[in-house]
Amino acid sequence: MADLPDKGTAFMEWYLEVLERAALTDKRYGVKGMNVWTPYGFRARRNLDAVLVREIEATGSVPVEFPALIPQTEFQKEKEHIKGFDAQVYWVTKGGASDLDIPLVLRPTSETAMYPVFALWVRSHKDLPLNVYQIVNTFRYETKTTRPFLRVREIHFFEEHTCQSDEAAATARVASNLQAFRAMARALDLPFVPVRRPDWDKFPGAFYSIALDIPVGQSRTLQIGSIHNYRENFSKPYGILFETPDGQQRLVHQTTFGLSERLLGAVVAVHGDAKGVVFPTAVAPYQVVVVPIVSAQATTDPRPAARTLASELTRRGLRVFVDEGEERPGAKYYRWELRGAPLRLDIGAREAAQGSATAVDRLGTKRLLGPEGLPEAVVAMLGEFDTRLYERALAQFRAAFTKATTLEELKGSTTVRLVGWCTQETCGHAIETAIDGALLGTPEGEVPFELGPTGPCLGCGRTEGVVWAIAAQPL
Ligand SMILES: [Zn+2]
Repeated sequence: MADLPDKGTAFMEWYLEVLERAALTDKRYGVKGMNVWTPYGFRARRNLDAVLVREIEATGSVPVEFPALIPQTEFQKEKEHIKGFDAQVYWVTKGGASDLDIPLVLRPTSETAMYPVFALWVRSHKDLPLNVYQIVNTFRYETKTTRPFLRVREIHFFEEHTCQSDEAAATARVASNLQAFRAMARALDLPFVPVRRPDWDKFPGAFYSIALDIPVGQSRTLQIGSIHNYRENFSKPYGILFETPDGQQRLVHQTTFGLSERLLGAVVAVHGDAKGVVFPTAVAPYQVVVVPIVSAQATTDPRPAARTLASELTRRGLRVFVDEGEERPGAKYYRWELRGAPLRLDIGAREAAQGSATAVDRLGTKRLLGPEGLPEAVVAMLGEFDTRLYERALAQFRAAFTKATTLEELKGSTTVRLVGWCTQETCGHAIETAIDGALLGTPEGEVPFELGPTGPCLGCGRTEGVVWAIAAQPL
């Protein structure tokens, strides 16, 4: 098969081609922007969801599921939120042949579905905090070019919604979400930068928004998630009140945390290479692929040994596939490199006779394992693989940011830029015009690179009150 397009110079062509060849999605469904989850892609998605569920539940969040249809009357209660989603919602206006009395919105996100019910659930300070999440499909009528996993019209969406007693508790929840995301991203071997969005770019209805961004080549970035503090912006119109210990009625403070299959797109985009996808072990549909190498000349059939090893590894909780297809070994090696399996175990007649296996990981490390302690050696090799995958991603991540000290330097940027910004909106827009993109905002908390002291604001030259900001071209 022809080589993949060059990832460095033709990223999007490479991305689309690699998804197609690795059979992670099928774009041939009859609605643009709504793709089919293939068996291989669905396994990856299920593993990704397991990581999200594990980490969010560790923070005390519990799962719920709300209906997909929202009455227009509820949807319209928070004005900014409506304005933000107005052009993107799908409407259900008929039931059979009759027009509905109240049209229904197919949820683009679930604030307006959940909050009328939260007003019934929350009565007293004893009901707080309310931390719930759901993983459901949401729908947005995208007008931009759709891309599998990155921009779709039916979104596989993780959304946490919380109610807190006050501003301090809401701020703590935002910090807890960010901490949970650090664990999620680490499981995916993905370095990222949390960025507080400027006011003109926050989520509709939010008091502030923290986005989780990654660089994806040259000056482009991808937002892979977001955390919002709503303060009382939604609890006021939806009447979510609680009684304090001293008998007063007070509005709750709310937060949300949203993620989607973009994370899977990010895994492909960040770790993939000229040979195809590279899955971190946490999401790999198969962590280990066992390839028996059958030869007409050999006296030992390696297939029983391959099957025995596979079931032993499966019993230890690994996801294993034995590739017993008719193809030549070379074709199988090629396929599993393309599809991103972290570790391949080749078993020929020699290995079968010894009870050993030749292990080759997706980053090229090759080792003869066993016969003693073979399963333990496989587990250890997967751990080493994740460490090296993360280190490789971190090196790429750090190289993706460079500082700029003048507006002139932003023109034709070939990396994401770190700039001095005085936080005035006019200067922010001047920076956006210069890079022909967006001022993503200011890094929040710990970031995986050295920032050092800022220079003057690129917009006005002021030196007082200048912060670091990130300028890029978001995908
Ligand atoms: Zn300025």
